[in-house]
Amino acid sequence: MELREILPCVADPTKLRAIGKVDVRDFRRVMPYLARLIPGATYSERDEWISFKKGQKIITVYGDGFVTMAYIRDKMEAMEILKDIEEKARKAWEKREQIDISKPVKRTVSPLDVYSYLPKTNCKECGEQTCMAFAVKLLNGEKDIKDCKPLFKEKKYTGIREALADMLL
Ligand code: SF4
Repeated sequence: MELREILPCVADPTKLRAIGKVDVRDFRRVMPYLARLIPGATYSERDEWISFKKGQKIITVYGDGFVTMAYIRDKMEAMEILKDIEEKARKAWEKREQIDISKPVKRTVSPLDVYSYLPKTNCKECGEQTCMAFAVKLLNGEKDIKDCKPLFKEKKYTGIREALADMLL
């Protein structure tokens, strides 16, 4: 595993975000099994990523082994997350014959889940007073993800935006 970058967390100045890479052989082949071993994970087979929450942290793992982590405490925590993904990936591969990948990864999406993917700045650009109000309307179909302009304006939100879009499919 390798930690590539540590950056300030935009939505919470007390936290950090990080980019790392896991070292797992044939990771793309492991992904469908890994996605089913992580509780509450969202998985896009087509775009090759798995996204999940661990407490407040949002973690997205890509087919090329890159991992983005938001709301982390420090470098040590980022390294622990990478190590944990590597261990889970190895376990998933070892147990692959017992894991049914024929069924889609199921998940019930709540407003809080959607909120956790939004910038949380309450900037009101979407026409709502708060990001939480936007999350509720997005789930109800009263708003479109594109109404949250910061998600599309800023490059740093690309991974989170894609994870959110897929979660809402
Ligand atoms: S535009 Fe996005 S960041 Fe701004 S309040 Fe609405 S949901 Fe929150």
